[in-house]
Amino acid sequence: MRTQIVAGNWKMNCDLDESQHLLNALKQKDFSKSNAEVIVAPPYTNLYAAHKTLENSSIKISSQNINENDKGAYTGEISPSMLKSVGVEYAIIGHSERRAIYEESDNLLAKKVTAALKHDLKVMFCIGEVLEKRKADKHFEVVEEQLKNGLFHIEASQMKGVVIAYEPVWAIGTGETASPEQAQEIHEHIRKILAKQYSQEITDQTSILYGGSVKPNNAKEIFAKKDVDGGLIGGASLDADSFAEIVMSF
Ligand code: 13P
Repeated sequence: MRTQIVAGNWKMNCDLDESQHLLNALKQKDFSKSNAEVIVAPPYTNLYAAHKTLENSSIKISSQNINENDKGAYTGEISPSMLKSVGVEYAIIGHSERRAIYEESDNLLAKKVTAALKHDLKVMFCIGEVLEKRKADKHFEVVEEQLKNGLFHIEASQMKGVVIAYEPVWAIGTGETASPEQAQEIHEHIRKILAKQYSQEITDQTSILYGGSVKPNNAKEIFAKKDVDGGLIGGASLDADSFAEIVMSF
């Protein structure tokens, strides 16, 4: 059985007040009517307060990034154990903005995955192609390479701590979504890659989320596809009503 998940990636939005306001609004929502596990990923500065605010709630907390080292002279960085100590359960790793703007390589991402799992943080590992690759019909190869180079160094037994998020770069923040058929096609492909690398059992237990301009008006048809287990939501996760509506799409 695969867990259905709706996760909100707040990116670099929300100061502490705004964050608390949004979390309190989310707490008022009755997510028990949805089958989805609900996760929010506020910026680092708001994580501890988020943990306190969500203490009696089913909403889980993710970081948006992680450092691959345990501790030491890494000015400006945050370690896995620091995140654990403020109630974080998931770490987003390999978001396309980290890959593109901060030039995070597959090699670095692989180390981050190892570090997160070592500290019992679950990983939301992001993959996805840029527009040129999609146009050149190379998207299947791109995601396969990203998985091979950033994730497949881990053992099959560690895959239970991993969620994959397919986020086509051309659909992020653009208002353009992959069609439900495009999402299904590549999610199915990702499952085949997982089966080849690990086993059918691993494939059957790994949640694969879709991300890229998911909104209340398109979530249901995307989530209805058989290999789509939920969504990683950017813009629409900053509004409690919109995010809740997306969660209720399950
Ligand atoms: P948008 O939903 O704003 O397109 O962002 C998607 C995303 O990058 C989530 O990680």
